[in-house]
Amino acid sequence: MLLLVVALSSCGRGSRSAGAPIAAAALRGANVLLVTIDTLRADHVGAYGSALGATPTIDRLAREGLRFDVAYAHVPLTLPSHATIMTGLYPFANGVRDNGSFRFDGVKPTLAGELKRAGYRTGAFVGAFVLDARFGLNAGFDVYDDRVQGASANLDIVQRTAEAVLAAAYAWIAQSAMNPQSAMNPQSAMNPQSTIPNPQPIRTPQSAIRNVPWFAWVHLYDPHEPYTPPEPFAARYAADPYSGEIAYADAALGSFLDRLKTAGALDRTLVVIASDHGESLGEHGERTHGLFAYESTLRVPLVVWAPGVVAPGVVSSPARLVDVAPTMLDLVGAPAAAADGRSLRPLVGGDPAPDSDPGSYFEALNANLTRNWAPLEGIVRNRVKLVDLPIPELYDLDADPHETKNLYASQRDRGRDLEARLDRLDAARAQPVPRPGPLDGDADARLRSLGYVVGGATRPARAFTAADDPKRLVHLNTMLDDAAGALARGDATAAAATLEAAIRERPDLTIAYDRLAFVLRGAGHIGDAVALLDRAARGGHADRALLRSLGAMLRDAGELARSIAVLEPLAKEDPGDLQTLDALGQAYVRAHRPRDAEAMFRRVLAASPNASATWNNLGSLYLGENRPAEAFDALTMAVAINPDLPGAHNGLGVVYARRGELARAEAEWRRALALRPDDADARANLEQVQRRER
Ligand SMILES: [Zn+2]
Repeated sequence: MLLLVVALSSCGRGSRSAGAPIAAAALRGANVLLVTIDTLRADHVGAYGSALGATPTIDRLAREGLRFDVAYAHVPLTLPSHATIMTGLYPFANGVRDNGSFRFDGVKPTLAGELKRAGYRTGAFVGAFVLDARFGLNAGFDVYDDRVQGASANLDIVQRTAEAVLAAAYAWIAQSAMNPQSAMNPQSAMNPQSTIPNPQPIRTPQSAIRNVPWFAWVHLYDPHEPYTPPEPFAARYAADPYSGEIAYADAALGSFLDRLKTAGALDRTLVVIASDHGESLGEHGERTHGLFAYESTLRVPLVVWAPGVVAPGVVSSPARLVDVAPTMLDLVGAPAAAADGRSLRPLVGGDPAPDSDPGSYFEALNANLTRNWAPLEGIVRNRVKLVDLPIPELYDLDADPHETKNLYASQRDRGRDLEARLDRLDAARAQPVPRPGPLDGDADARLRSLGYVVGGATRPARAFTAADDPKRLVHLNTMLDDAAGALARGDATAAAATLEAAIRERPDLTIAYDRLAFVLRGAGHIGDAVALLDRAARGGHADRALLRSLGAMLRDAGELARSIAVLEPLAKEDPGDLQTLDALGQAYVRAHRPRDAEAMFRRVLAASPNASATWNNLGSLYLGENRPAEAFDALTMAVAINPDLPGAHNGLGVVYARRGELARAEAEWRRALALRPDDADARANLEQVQRRER
């Protein structure tokens, strides 16, 4: 329990100024910097009442700029929330409802696209795979730097640090320093990673870009779990590593802004800082975020800073993340497309008009889409929140900021207006929630011929009851978290036992099969893993993710024909599912179909040029085909994007060895072994060369 955190409440924080009115287009032609700090809970920011002292940078900008006291996210998940920020549209309007299985189609206008049309250079620098270009938020960006580090089998936690993200962003911004007389030197500012072949054409002739305004989006993922802050923040926040991650991200942001200021690059720059969602930290039984939509995950910080143009102040009228893009476009005088959000500029500098709150829609559909639990939707307006579930919830947020007293049964009349508004939004949606990657008839038939009954689109619509309410099932969520924790501690037995218990209780808990198979495989029982997934798929508990896992496990178990039979229909039916394309490419490699494999890998890389693991797979394919020059290029690209891929270093060692450059070969193999001490290939290669040298 974090006793230091002060309850979020819009009263009792002393005097405040509502700011001063701002003219439309007051920042015409100014640079624009959007900072999103992932998983940053509003009440952990000093400016929002936290006494932890973790956020001096945000606090300073909030003091010098405009702070929106009440700001809401619309979905407590990274990809869909950023899609609402970028489009100004609610999730049902921009089409992105969940991480991983949904993609933004790039058709709807975006903040980046509108600024680009207004003459801006546009660059994005993101910190986690969940925002990889393949999911579509690269729309409108000249540069989309989604290079991440690490080689985890769990792509969801592949990330890079705030410092690495900000170094790349600084290097890009430095190319068009606002003040040409400044000491800003793009060459010395380059991220060390960028000195090796760069996967993105991010160097542009200086003359062509000087005095062209820039829009940079930086995404700092650090406060997202796992909470592993670097020193000195780990020691300083030993009992509260989540806050340690916040403090680290804030400090990195502070250094970044200081460097930009010194270089004159902040002289006329609009800075907006927000988060995509908060973190539950155990409240309502939820440890992290994504299941519920209580204030702990829905409420986010929102700060707008542009000294000399935007006067300091605090705005008490509610703001929403769908308002961010319209507000930024309004301030810089760029035309904005129609959106669910509105510019917040007219709210600044006056008292909020009565009844001016348009209400904020929210949803949390991950558990519905991946576990078949009841879908969560709701709306919050005038400090009253309605959560539409089989067991509905209604809260008076002023009287009950922690949402402990559900008023729905006793004061239902207070929710009538919200119910009507939610119904109108539902009507506007016209269609039920589309399942991710619905399987078409052909794919479905091919999978059925293997004995698999696929969920998703073919799952009949059902009425959800109280037994499907996430409030009743949150303990299963905890079990999934506990299993992940046990696995992280190296206790695969406990992880497996917990997942088995969860499946016994809820046999349609698809994600638990997938995770249990992952545990079994990690413990060396790949046959058991295949059997488990096979049984789940025959029992009708499969979704696309589970079938993809099954296809990959069949491949690794050497059952190549079955693997390809499972993966091919999935790949054919959704060519945008790059994880499946990559898995299928690897199956083709094993089945000695190099041309098919190369085509698959090339398709992945066309959609996601920084997919380092796929560059690695392509390089390994070329090595096996005795095409050393192409292997070298692909593997070099892999390690340029992600220096921590042991397989790519091993492959490069082989290329060097074949060229007779044994010292370089050894160095690569040692690097591979440093990254993965049990890398049998690298060890065997190293020993072989060392024997020969003796
Ligand atoms: Zn997030």
